Amino acid sequence: MTYDREAIRPVIYWFRKDLRLTDNPALLSAAESGHPVLAVYILEDGNSDPWAPGGASRWWLHHSLKALDKSLKTLGNRLVLRRGRPQEVLRELATETGATAVYSTWLAEPHAIKVDSELGHILNELGSGFKTFDGNLIFPPESVTTKNGEPYKVFTPFYKACLKKFPLPDPMPAPRRLPCPGKSLKSDSLDQWELLPKKPEWSASWLDMWTPGETGALLRLDSFLEQSAVEYGTRRDRPDISGTSRLSPHFHFGEISPLLCWHRALSHISPEAENGIESFFRQIIWREFSHHLLYHWPEFPEEPFRPEFKRFAWVKDEEALLRWQRGLTGYPIVDAGMRELWATGWMHNRVRMIAASFLVKHLLIPWQDGAAWFWNTLVDADLANNSVSWQWVAGCGVDAAPFFRVFNPMLQGRKFDPDGTYVRRWVPELANLPNKYIHEPWATPEHILENSGVSLGNIYPFPLVNHMSARNRALAVFEQMRN
Ligand SMILES: Cc1cc2nc3c(=O)[nH]c(=O)nc-3n(C[C@H](O)[C@H](O)[C@H](O)COP(=O)(O)OP(=O)(O)OC[C@H]3O[C@@H](n4cnc5c(N)ncnc54)[C@H](O)[C@@H]3O)c2cc1C
Repeated sequence: MTYDREAIRPVIYWFRKDLRLTDNPALLSAAESGHPVLAVYILEDGNSDPWAPGGASRWWLHHSLKALDKSLKTLGNRLVLRRGRPQEVLRELATETGATAVYSTWLAEPHAIKVDSELGHILNELGSGFKTFDGNLIFPPESVTTKNGEPYKVFTPFYKACLKKFPLPDPMPAPRRLPCPGKSLKSDSLDQWELLPKKPEWSASWLDMWTPGETGALLRLDSFLEQSAVEYGTRRDRPDISGTSRLSPHFHFGEISPLLCWHRALSHISPEAENGIESFFRQIIWREFSHHLLYHWPEFPEEPFRPEFKRFAWVKDEEALLRWQRGLTGYPIVDAGMRELWATGWMHNRVRMIAASFLVKHLLIPWQDGAAWFWNTLVDADLANNSVSWQWVAGCGVDAAPFFRVFNPMLQGRKFDPDGTYVRRWVPELANLPNKYIHEPWATPEHILENSGVSLGNIYPFPLVNHMSARNRALAVFEQMRN
């Protein structure tokens, strides 16, 4: 019998935002390399990664890694946990094990691109390879460009260009085998990483709402396609109805691939579901668009895309920012959203738009401050989606809502939460107000307030700013910037 020394050297599979086994081309390739696979996840902190996960994302990550380890064990493998700069950790691991290569899924984020480039050199010097594969996006950024080879800056033509790429390839199966390296490697314990929030512990009930991990992602997709997809197009803007997929954290952590999602959704197309599924596809393509933008303009998380907004006279108002964060602005739809965010780690898209618009236009607080709060409190906090969406709302991004279109929180509330169900759920102190006043408690006659048990200024605040004056102030500051 010949002893194949080469085959015993492992390959390293470096899990990042692809915490899944199915339709993971990089993992399948590692599995098919003929080498044992050392599966590793590396936790970076804010010193090396400026966009290390915020509090809510760390909660999700804890549970997702636990789920991934469980899945790997069904294949006879396990997840090794290490902490530090990936360049150093992977150098050490490659040296210690003699790994022939490191495999990973390519990411469009600036920090990942920098790490990948340095890692390529380091591994090269060690005589190991570094192989990245697509899989986080359906369309890699260089594959969707204008006729001149430029990146798209407007969504609809981008969407149409994506549709021209049909039919899409089939998703890949999970590896059937993933042999572990013979030598057992030391791993941190997940609990040691202390990813779960303690002070304050604001995630106590989240496991009732969310099931992080690949199995949870697939169940979530199937229940969405069976129960909500038909009406998605007409109900996706209604925060009072549970009509969207809530797949965003699963997408962010790569527990499900957008390609697999696309194929499963296609298999549900019927004449009644066509509209809903097409509208759902558009949102998936928004995710692709945002990631492409981040790839082409890596400064998106910090700098306004429209440079004139560098001159915008933003206001630093810590007190107002705090009241916005706590859901105490006195505008019920805004407060409901901010409280939903704190209670669940998620906020409905329509309310994200209203709450973000209120912060940047009514309060003139920089969009970066709002994005930072979202970064810390959303379980789906995603550098591309968050930055692009905040800039879209603030009017300084690509294809953005014009700054002068200032959302009226009362009208938005009446239109998208017509019976006030959403506000009553998250702002229970207003629960007994009649529908007519639920989005405008300050306009309620005194005797109705009394009968509803609402004492403004005590149990619920007066509005932080007057809508019309705030609107006029925002437009004046905008004009000043333009001149
Ligand atoms: C100010 C602001 C900040 C946001 N921050 C984030 C963020 O950090 N992470 C995040 O994933 N989304 C963010 N979004 C986009 C959007 O609100 C969420 O993706 C959506 O609410 C998630 O819920 P869902 O999974 O039920 O969405 P669905 O309506 O079911 O959509 C399906 C998927 O499409 C993608 N998607 C939907 N809308 C958008 C969008 N506007 N841009 C990019 N992708 C989209 C998401 O991956 C989502 O899971 C933000 C939006 C705003 C206005």
